Amino acid sequence: MSKNNPRRRTKIVQTGIGADPAHHAVIPPLYLSSTFEIPGIGERLPYEYSRTRNPTRDMLAQAMTDLEEGVGASITSSGMAALTLIVHLLEPEDLLLAPFDCYGRSYRLLMELANKKHFRLKFVDQYSPAGLEEAFSEKPKMVLIESPSNPVMRIADIKSISAKAKKAGAITVVDNTFLSPILQQPLKLGADIVYHSSTKFLNGHSDIVGGCVVTNNKDILTDLEFWNNSLGTIGAPFDSFMTLRGLRTLELRVHRAQENAEKVAAMLDQHDAVETVYYPGLKTHAGHDIAAAQQEGFGAMLSFTIKGDFENVKTFADNVHLFRLAQSLGGTESLMNHPATMTHVSMGAEAREKAGVTDGLLRLSIGIEHIDDLLDDLKGGLKAIG
Ligand SMILES: *Cc1c(COP(=O)(O)O)cnc(C)c1O
Repeated sequence: MSKNNPRRRTKIVQTGIGADPAHHAVIPPLYLSSTFEIPGIGERLPYEYSRTRNPTRDMLAQAMTDLEEGVGASITSSGMAALTLIVHLLEPEDLLLAPFDCYGRSYRLLMELANKKHFRLKFVDQYSPAGLEEAFSEKPKMVLIESPSNPVMRIADIKSISAKAKKAGAITVVDNTFLSPILQQPLKLGADIVYHSSTKFLNGHSDIVGGCVVTNNKDILTDLEFWNNSLGTIGAPFDSFMTLRGLRTLELRVHRAQENAEKVAAMLDQHDAVETVYYPGLKTHAGHDIAAAQQEGFGAMLSFTIKGDFENVKTFADNVHLFRLAQSLGGTESLMNHPATMTHVSMGAEAREKAGVTDGLLRLSIGIEHIDDLLDDLKGGLKAIG
């Protein structure tokens, strides 16, 4: 390893280490202060007021810039705040193309802002070349991609869509929450902006809500920073500190969780009580080849449907104990989600059906527990169905 060009993992582990001028603390201190003293009238310092800039938040921004290999990052108070920032780049006449099966709350936010004429909006099927062709002929300004999609893990071809967007004069934005920069780097595939709900894998311990936006375009960064400061969508110093702490083990966590997920997917795929497993790592998955080409791995998220009626889903959920029935994902602990009644309620029944979110669908966020305990737990739930 060269001293001047450390690898990504080294950069993240080393972010801010030994950078404390006051006491030489090894781990960088947490700056909670909202304001900073100015030496004299008319003089300027990098840090004056924490909405505008804060040292702890900046340190996390540096780590995220390194991880996604962009030119800079804006740290926000949530994943939704990150998307809010991004759509502020649009003018009322600009057209935004968004996936018809995007994260439920993103779907709702975009729809309501479009209703208020903040921009024009079209939900598209990014998995169909014909549908995409037609959408691009309408000269969009921004294309939003979420891959893998939530919850049925559809895979969008980021390289191909970004290239088409560029030709049409649009910028490409990718929600990279499900994989993290360890498993997918959208900027390298041609996207202009990548964002995360840091609440999930980046922080990774289910104890803060946060978001971030990374770009490889300096002009876009300037606009994002203006809007983050003006809207006040900024992430709190404490949450930034926690997220940076989480990031230092991101690679270890993601790799262990993914290893577990591969084994869970294989077990479910073979099980008689299971109808369909949605995991891009399975050769039978429609997006397997694109995922294999654009991702570094298949991730730790999967969904599946149980055979029979809704009662079977309830019986299963009542008989698993390690997998907690809860919203969210990407923590060290395994979680189970019933999208139709939990994460995707806000979408409405019609959009849900179109997106493939049926009542029998369950989503799993695989944690870093011992694999045999996870498998035993799920098998116990499936056995209870009888
Ligand atoms: C959770 C999530 C969001 C929203 O992030 P918050 O931090 O909850 O605001 C957006 N996109 C995806 C894919 C998510 O999983």
